[in-house]
Amino acid sequence: MELSDLTLKKARAGLENKDFSAKELVSATLERIQKLDPKISAFLTVCPESALKQAAETDELIARSQKLKALSGIPFSAKDVFSTQGIKTTAASRILENYIPVYDATAIKKLREAGAILIGKTNHDAFGFGSSTENSDFQVTHNPWNLNKVPGGSSGGSAAAVASGMGVFSLAEDTGGSIRQPACFCGVTGLKVTYGLVSRYGVIAYGSSLDTIGVITPSVEDAAFLLGIIAGPDPLDATTMPNPIPDYLESLNQGIKGLRIGLPKEYFIEGIDPEVKQSLDEAVKKFEKLGAKTESVSLPHTPDAIPAYYLSGISEVSANLARYDGVRFGYSSPEARELEDLYLESRAKGFGPEVKRRIMLGTYALSAGYYDAFYKKAQQVRYLIKQDFDRVFQKVDLLLAPVSPFPPFGIGEKAEDPLQMWLADIFTVTINPAGVPGLALPCGFTKNNLPIGLQLIGPQLSEGVLLKAGHAYQSQTDWHKRRPSLSA
Ligand code: GLN
Repeated sequence: MELSDLTLKKARAGLENKDFSAKELVSATLERIQKLDPKISAFLTVCPESALKQAAETDELIARSQKLKALSGIPFSAKDVFSTQGIKTTAASRILENYIPVYDATAIKKLREAGAILIGKTNHDAFGFGSSTENSDFQVTHNPWNLNKVPGGSSGGSAAAVASGMGVFSLAEDTGGSIRQPACFCGVTGLKVTYGLVSRYGVIAYGSSLDTIGVITPSVEDAAFLLGIIAGPDPLDATTMPNPIPDYLESLNQGIKGLRIGLPKEYFIEGIDPEVKQSLDEAVKKFEKLGAKTESVSLPHTPDAIPAYYLSGISEVSANLARYDGVRFGYSSPEARELEDLYLESRAKGFGPEVKRRIMLGTYALSAGYYDAFYKKAQQVRYLIKQDFDRVFQKVDLLLAPVSPFPPFGIGEKAEDPLQMWLADIFTVTINPAGVPGLALPCGFTKNNLPIGLQLIGPQLSEGVLLKAGHAYQSQTDWHKRRPSLSA
């Protein structure tokens, strides 16, 4: 078993054919984490005891020749915003440093019920606030392709873990690019679903009207398989959609002859890195060769997406993070004498600078007197962005665009300039206000061997089409198969 290029498909086949046992797979993964993670720092928590115990139980079931479940024995990681029963869940913030949930998030529960084995919780920007994983209160994650570069963010730990073979896949969250951009920076596949397709129950909230759950995987095929397991209505999340879940694998091999792909001109602008541009141009040709018809389209409100996204996001942050008051959750300042001091001191010490910045700006945007100028305006622009997508999807089936205007940047390069960091999200934050899905896949490498990615964007609930198109591309290319060379 070669962990560095193990896909979910191969892992399932290996277990099914008894090429290796669940215990062997889980032990090898834990050993790899022990060997590589001191350099990469993808994990905040590793759970060897519970993982090995579950692996032994899985092997017992297999020995008694009971049928394997969909994910029996598959080791996976989850971003540390997913509540995991009995396992520390920090949101990468000091304020939740010692918080142990008493229940599982619905997506975790579904994966566990399907037999998957949680091996650990991954690092990310605290509460999902960032694009480089440098805003974690605990550690900086390194890009496995070049340890001096960021892995992207906020789900940088999840993407770095999958790229370096530390767990077959990772469960992550995307509010404005947090699955797609790190997947792109680490050369793996990332799926952000339609808002409401996967339950957010038990996921520590960033912006409740923007947050979506998805997966980071070695291939599109793996993402399709997993989506079938985690998607679906949940009585515990009133924003989940009631729609029946299609068989995403069934349509995967249908090919894309005649598929209409739009190339939004606002995404192919001056200033995008020439190597990124070149890889994207070649990918477009590949899609055309596969039978797709491409045409230039326009999403005129794209330039307004960053302010509209950030104003909506941080306004929701200021409300969602009010619950961390030193009383109910996490860190509670021991020095405080009065109730108000308890709030102030717990929050002052528990939150990092980016979290404070967003709470303050969000509170300001929602305050009487400024609400109309900021929050309300952002909601109006959000509607215009949604209309852009609705209009364009009357003409084309999908959009193809870059994920990031540049390849992975250096650790520390943008950390001191929050505005630069926010602007880096130009191609990812646009889609969350519209609630539509996006699929990021590797489409090339720079001459310095850093991954480049593209994203496919579709109308609401078009995951089947996105996955079919992504799979067609991966059947004809091998970018997604490349892995960084890592040694202990
Ligand atoms: N980088 C974006 C932000 O900082 C997106 C983060 C996310 O999707 N959680 O808000």
